Amino acid sequence: MSALLDVEAIEVSYGAAQALFGVSLAVGEGEAVALMGRNGMGKTTTIRTICRLMRHHGGHVRFAGQDIGAQAPFRVARMGIGLVPEGRRCFGPLTVRENLVAAARPGEWTLDRVHKLFPRLHERHGQAAATLSGGEQQMLAIGRALMTNPRLLVLDEATEGLAPVVRQEIWAAISALKATGLSILVVDKSLKELKGFADRCVVLEKGESVWQGAPGDLTDEIATRYLGV
Ligand code: ATP
Repeated sequence: MSALLDVEAIEVSYGAAQALFGVSLAVGEGEAVALMGRNGMGKTTTIRTICRLMRHHGGHVRFAGQDIGAQAPFRVARMGIGLVPEGRRCFGPLTVRENLVAAARPGEWTLDRVHKLFPRLHERHGQAAATLSGGEQQMLAIGRALMTNPRLLVLDEATEGLAPVVRQEIWAAISALKATGLSILVVDKSLKELKGFADRCVVLEKGESVWQGAPGDLTDEIATRYLGV
């Protein structure tokens, strides 16, 4: 059976500067995959390419068996890729509720279900998104992605800039999502949390996927060599 997401040897450039030189990764149905690598190794570029916010000039991106290389971002969102972007990017002047409703597509995820996952969003439903704390904005960004009823949830820097206690809340929520069988691709700085969460890890080095395996096989030597820890 083919994977839900299949990224094969993609090459991506910013103008004349090539950033990705062959990144391959797959996410199966119900699988949680961690995308790892030091700063500037190509994680965000890979995610933006999967979501069609960047174009690749080599390789393939397939989702649910279709080549999505020529699709517009809104189309892949409709096909079922839900992005939680780096920096959250909630619509600041809109209320929490408006941010969620604006993203809604028919499916199991409704406002009620998002409120159950993040009661804080329910409490603050009438508040402008710009006035939320960082943690609440991340909950909103995740809730907004869920409202699209994705088959694959993609999180770029899942807990960046958040206090430790809030990070734990976010990891608990993402773990609960994984337990429902949702497929997840996640980038984060915390190796410990990623290893505890992911079924598989993919490591990028200078725009190439250089190592893939189970978290248990990610040795200290690999972590030192590629992740600088
Ligand atoms: P970080 O953890 O710092 O976000 P990353 O692994 O997500 O890093 P990318 O942001 O994908 O890495 O960057 C990959 C490469 O592409 C880097 O060499 C970076 O300098 C380059 N790059 C990223 N964005 C741009 C841009 N807008 N214009 C030109 N080069 C860019």
